[in-house]
Amino acid sequence: MKILENISLFICSYCGKRYLRQGFCLRHESFCGSNPKNKPRCSECKHLRRTKEWIGANPSAMDPGRLQYGFYCIKHNQHMYPLKAIRLKVIEKYPKQLEDKILMPNECDDYGYAEEAYWGSLSGDHYAVPFLGENADE
Ligand SMILES: [Zn+2]
Repeated sequence: MKILENISLFICSYCGKRYLRQGFCLRHESFCGSNPKNKPRCSECKHLRRTKEWIGANPSAMDPGRLQYGFYCIKHNQHMYPLKAIRLKVIEKYPKQLEDKILMPNECDDYGYAEEAYWGSLSGDHYAVPFLGENADE
């Protein structure tokens, strides 16, 4: 067994995750879900809706495409994408998918607290955020 002594350990200031390389730690902090800067105001807002659309369908290649989930603000009539899209480099890989969409903002003058919304993170299927068109008043 080898024991390394006097090594530098880089620790995320927000969640405590540990890294051996500073660059990885800095990158992590810039996307860390515990970093308040990375929590969009939309995440508890009553104006937020989820969307789903089929993209990339190519009938000549018998490719049905795939289902793409997204976010939409009914107050501003604006499609949005989460910070995760930047972390996963979706913008660079598929710029067409995100054109006309904006990054979910950290601050918003029209924010309205939604009691029933639950957000663990911006991924997964466990949120209570309704799909666009599910509410009768839209
Ligand atoms: Zn962290």
